[in-house]
Amino acid sequence: MLDSKASPTTNVPVLDNGRWTSSATTRWGDVYNPSQGTVIARVPLCTADEAAGVVAAANSALEEWSATPVIERARLMFRYRELLERNLNDLARLITREHGKTLAESRAEIRRGIEVVEFACGIPSLIMGRTAPNLATNIDADIERHPVGVCLGITPFNFPAMVPMWMFPVAIVCGNTFILKPSEKVPLTAVRIGELLTEAGCPPGVFNIVHGDRECVDALINHPSVAAVSFVGSTPVAQSIYQTGTQAGKRVQAAGGAKNHFVIMPDADLKIAVKALAEAAFGCAGQRCMASSIAIAVGPIGDELVEGLCDYATKMRVGPTEDTEEVDMGPVIRRSEQERIASYLDIAQGEGATVALDGRAEFEGDGFLLRPSVIDNVRPEMRVATEEIFGPVLSVIRAQNLDEAIAFNKHSRFGNGASIYTSNGFAAREFQRRSPAGMIGINVGVPAPMAWLPFTGWNQSFYGDLHIQGEEAIDFYTRKKVTMSRWFHPHGDTAGDSIWNSAPSKKT
Ligand code: NAD
Repeated sequence: MLDSKASPTTNVPVLDNGRWTSSATTRWGDVYNPSQGTVIARVPLCTADEAAGVVAAANSALEEWSATPVIERARLMFRYRELLERNLNDLARLITREHGKTLAESRAEIRRGIEVVEFACGIPSLIMGRTAPNLATNIDADIERHPVGVCLGITPFNFPAMVPMWMFPVAIVCGNTFILKPSEKVPLTAVRIGELLTEAGCPPGVFNIVHGDRECVDALINHPSVAAVSFVGSTPVAQSIYQTGTQAGKRVQAAGGAKNHFVIMPDADLKIAVKALAEAAFGCAGQRCMASSIAIAVGPIGDELVEGLCDYATKMRVGPTEDTEEVDMGPVIRRSEQERIASYLDIAQGEGATVALDGRAEFEGDGFLLRPSVIDNVRPEMRVATEEIFGPVLSVIRAQNLDEAIAFNKHSRFGNGASIYTSNGFAAREFQRRSPAGMIGINVGVPAPMAWLPFTGWNQSFYGDLHIQGEEAIDFYTRKKVTMSRWFHPHGDTAGDSIWNSAPSKKT
């Protein structure tokens, strides 16, 4: 069993047909503790043959699992939910250890994941079909939902528990079998949530885990037995997986990167807006697809906003996150990410913006730490405004009015989320209607994806038709069957007669 103190020699196992096995690959990656900058485990970069092995396991479990009554499939999730609740704190420590986010952030992500498990417990109601009686004379039509088959989930590093749990609870209760290919940067949490699902009674082959990079992913996506692919990660990979998957005839939902705008109107309560904005920008060290990375100050409030933000961010406690609740922001995921994120401060200055708060700081130890940064006087065409930084760097753009703020938002090629802080209902309504993003916050800093609603990313933040979570997830993980039925009267055309009264007497 993996615990939150996985030792430096831990080789991360594969879950193949209900058994935890060691990979035979010759290629391995390092798993880090980002708070300390130390290696805590080795993750196999599995071969195409190993990928094919787990697909075979998932395929052989499919017939029996899809024929298992949906109520029993849902009961697996009721048991799983209890185990997740019981193990929540240990699981949070494990996420914090391999990801670096604060313990409070780790607990919050597990909570969001548990909500999807709770949603999946209700699938017996959600998966029901519909009937059109007597659609034509004596013909009834009905629609049933059937599982799609073997489903694949490829997930990013930034939510090691929640993003996998966006997918497999729904897929499995819909009657599919599932293969998870977690991020090779955070595989320990995936293994632990797999252990708990096995403990809850998940039959062998119904849920499998394989690790790796492009070689493994390509083998999985192109395998003829894989029917559906759910992906969450960066936009270039989302685009490529969508193309490869759909060309291979699979249904694909691929959520990509983001650049979320946060508009502050002059009538907003600035103190409340600053706090919400700082939390939206610097929470999880800015490594959230719903992080606000551009603040648009409307009207005369720009200077006051920047001052408030710098003041708030300067007071944030930044440091290693393990074994403490006394930290507001932890490290980023890798040394290379720390350097890449910090480089945007020079890029911004080079393009004419002003670094109002420089987060490059000295820390004790080797953790991948940065403090929050605020960049002022940004223009919409600058690289800091157009590229996903995915770190604790907030850019401030000044706009004269709401129309200009919305126009700046339209400049973005992404469309995950956008928020407005205002006390004016008309401004809120205009923003809601005209913003080119799928998730809108009105006086809500992070309009977070929730289990009961689809996560409706737009533009280059999403490729596909059916989004992850909510009813769209039920549509994605099922395929429909329409049946037309006509039954004939046993004695020919005697419409109106009771079949039983008009039964001919038996010949003796
Ligand atoms: P990533 O795209 O690098 O990796 C995501 C997954 O794809 C990982 O499992 C990785 O192993 C795999 N992968 C990487 N390169 C691949 C390739 N060339 N071929 C096949 N598979 C490949 O993303 P990341 O760095 O782990 O996560 C951060 C990104 O995820 C950010 O862009 C963030 O905005 C995005 N994200 C989006 C959402 C959303 O719902 N829209 C949610 C969370 C994160």
